[in-house]
Parts: sequence; C-alpha cells; structure tokens
Amino acid sequence: MSRRIRVLPELLISQIAAGEVIERPASVVKELIENSLDAGCTHLDIAIEQGGIKRIRVRDDGCGIPHDQLALALTRHATSKVTDLADLEAVTTLGFRGEALPSIAAVSRLTLVSRVPDPAGEGMAWSLAVSGGELSEGPRPAAHPVGTSVEVCDLFYNTPARRKFLRTPRTEFEQIEQTIRRLLLAHPAVACELRHDGRLIQRLAVADHPESLRMRLEQLLGAAFAEQSLRVESVAGELALSGWVLPPALARSQPDQQFFYVNGRLVRDRLLAHAIRQAFADCLHHSRHPAYVLFLELSPDQVDVNVHPAKYEVRFRASRQVHDFIRQALVRRLAQGRLGVPIGSPL
Ligand code: ADP
Ligand code: MG
Repeated sequence: MSRRIRVLPELLISQIAAGEVIERPASVVKELIENSLDAGCTHLDIAIEQGGIKRIRVRDDGCGIPHDQLALALTRHATSKVTDLADLEAVTTLGFRGEALPSIAAVSRLTLVSRVPDPAGEGMAWSLAVSGGELSEGPRPAAHPVGTSVEVCDLFYNTPARRKFLRTPRTEFEQIEQTIRRLLLAHPAVACELRHDGRLIQRLAVADHPESLRMRLEQLLGAAFAEQSLRVESVAGELALSGWVLPPALARSQPDQQFFYVNGRLVRDRLLAHAIRQAFADCLHHSRHPAYVLFLELSPDQVDVNVHPAKYEVRFRASRQVHDFIRQALVRRLAQGRLGVPIGSPL
C-alpha cells in the first residue's frame, strides 16, 4: 500500500462534505429551503418525486443569483453570507458555510435556475446544470421569474454506498414533511406549496394575523395543539422567549412536538431541553413529553452556531442565565394556565 500523502480531488472532498450534511432527501430539502429563506423569499414552491429520491425541486421568489455568480454558488466555501470573522461571530443567516450546494451537486444531478430583479425589467434568467459535481450544461438563458429554482435529481446516483441507506419513498417523504414543518413554523410570513408525485399535499398561506397563525399551527401540528396551547411571551433584558406550549395535562406520549428555535434556527440542545423539562417537572408524568414551539431571541454575539456542520447545536455565552430565564418564563406561564395572553395573539 502506498503511504504517499496526497491532496484529495475536489469532487471527493465535496462527497466527503456531503456525507456530513446530506444524509437523505430531507437534508437536501432543508438546505434548499434555508437558502430560499436567506434569500428573503415570500413564497416557496416545493415539488417532490418518489420521496425526493428521484427529484426535489424548490422554487423561491427571493433575491436571485446574478448569472456571473451561478457557478460560484456551486463552488465549495463560496458564500455571500459572511466575509470575515466578525460576520461569522454574529451570523444571522441560516447558511454561512458555503458547503450545501456544492455538496448536493457532488452527489446528484443538479440544475440551478435564477433571475435577479432589474429595474428595467429586461433581465432574464440563467441556468446551469451539474452532474456529479461536473458542469454539464450552461450557463444559458432560461425562462424563470425573479428568484431561484434548484432541482436535484437522482440523489446519491454516484455514491451507491449512500444510496443503500435510503428508505422507502413514503418514509423519505415523511422526513421531508417534518423538515418543512420545522422551517415553516418559524417563518409564518412565508407561503408554501408542497407537491408529491404531482399531488398537492399542503398549501400554507401567509400567517400574518392571529387567525391565520392559528391556521398554520393547525396545518402543521394538528387541531389539538392549535386550540389548546398556551401563548408564551416573556422578556428579560436582552433575552426574549415567545411561542406556544401545551399544558402539562395534554403532554404527549412521544417527544414529537418539540420545536425550539434560537434566533430563528431550530436547535436540539441539552441545556434548553433541561430547562424546559425542569419547568414541567412538577406537573408532568415521567413517561410524558412536553409539546412546544418556542422561539428564543438574543443578541447573535451571545450564541455560537458554528459548532456542527448541520448546525443543530449551539453554544451560549451565558448558558446559566439562558437556562434560568427559560425555566422561569415557562414556570410562570404554566402557573397562569389558560389565563393571560390570548392563544392566537401574534408573535
Ligand atoms: P451558504 O448558504 O452557506 O452560503 P450554499 O452552498 O447553500 O452556502 O449556497 C451558496 C451561495 O449561493 C449562497 O451564499 C447564496 O449566495 C447563493 N444561493 C444559494 N441558494 C440561493 C437562493 N435560493 N437564492 C439566492 N441565492 C442563493
Ligand atoms: Mg445554504
């Protein structure tokens, strides 16, 4: 065996990176929607075929990508979201690593179509196609409104070891729905349509007043959550907590309705889970799980999101203070029960 040290080829590096962030079709959907949200979209159009194994297409009406930057969007470590360490330490976008698109492109056939707004209205859309990380077509003019579409076909077609881990289209689609639920709960101002194999599965309207917000909760989490949950609203200094919790008496047998967002980013964090668990401690049977959708807002420099490639983990500067704030806010709210803030009042 040769023991010579070599720099790996770009494609292989991207495929290794894809291993970290692209586990299944739902991870592609997550990355694409996050890009659309970062681009300031107000409407998402999502089309899935065969649980995303055959095809995933996410179209948005966001800011678009200038045609001379399309190839750059698919280049590793190329991002429009951070330029220096100071940006990184106070990042407010969902993406910042510049790894998602090149990773996806390395393990699929990807088409990127985009158009930027132009005052004269004479601009056009451009498209670029990449297969297994290699440019296969374009850039060439295309028909598309202002915004971006990314189409991802034949995920893992060139990485058979990964492909083997894919489950049935039905299971993969359920994961996609869960991903959409997580993202769209946190973005009530964004409308969304979801199709699977040509069938309309979900249409979420813009949720900008109490009734439409309640409607979105019902569509994403069911009538019980929408009707029975308690509105949470609490501020202490630079920390703000808002959202909804189900009263302990209605806690669930599965931990399947636990959504915690830090500055708009869904996280799974031990410290936060512990704070919530403690708040429920006295009134929850140990085999029951609290159900909540909670949004913690704090200054971006008080939290480090660059802990893990999939960005599910965070680190707080003042972790004790954050923990106690959440616990106390929830203890107070649960003690008030159904009194206090009306259920559907806006965020
Ligand atoms: P990151 O999101 O970490 O910057 P990505 O690989 O996901 O990295 O995307 C690379 C770049 O492509 C982004 O920084 C952004 O400038 C551009 N981009 C990707 N998707 C979109 C989109 N839907 N609308 C506008 N720009 C996009
Ligand atoms: Mg991204």
